[in-house]
Amino acid sequence: MAMHQRTGDGTEGIDEWKKRAPYRVHEPNEHFKVRYEASCHCGKVKYQLSREEPLDSKLCHCTTCQTQHAAPFQWAAIFHKDDINFTHGHHDLEWYDPTSKSTEHRLPCKVRCSYCHSPIMDEGRNMILLFPSLVHLKNEQDRANFKPRLHMFYGQRVMDIPDGLPKWTGLNQESDLIEDSPPDMVRDLERKREKEREERFQKGEHK
Ligand SMILES: [Zn+2]
Ligand SMILES: [Zn+2]
Repeated sequence: MAMHQRTGDGTEGIDEWKKRAPYRVHEPNEHFKVRYEASCHCGKVKYQLSREEPLDSKLCHCTTCQTQHAAPFQWAAIFHKDDINFTHGHHDLEWYDPTSKSTEHRLPCKVRCSYCHSPIMDEGRNMILLFPSLVHLKNEQDRANFKPRLHMFYGQRVMDIPDGLPKWTGLNQESDLIEDSPPDMVRDLERKREKEREERFQKGEHK
């Protein structure tokens, strides 16, 4: 128990990560520009976002997301760890690492409200994937900013979503585009992969 106690500022204890982004509480004089506000179902967890548009917005159909969200797929928006300000820092949050099934804070991990257990975000090593269903999107522009741009792990889907968005069988950029993905994107990807194959062949990597 004593190991978990902080012994003052600048201590590099076991809980040092709680003082770093994304859990570091931004000071009022830091010019953290609040663009969006969000809260979990019970309201204990509240956060703010300073970035206008997420770096990406995706729908993930992988079976881990299906189980963790008890839903057919997950909607996640990607932000930098410094774009978020949890108003109570690390308090009222709990962690889960789906790989080791541990509730310790081990990256990458799932983050939930410790009271109502609403999923809050997936914390990666460099980025966070937060769940826009918690963000108070007030108008058309807000909704347009968060609009999903692609489907990933569509090969594991439980239902078809014929919306014309790019659909990757696994990880985006690293798998194949299927179903009603935009034909231009499919052609570009095929050309890119063909070029890569030729380059590998010229370098003598025949496999
Ligand atoms: Zn809650
Ligand atoms: Zn997933």
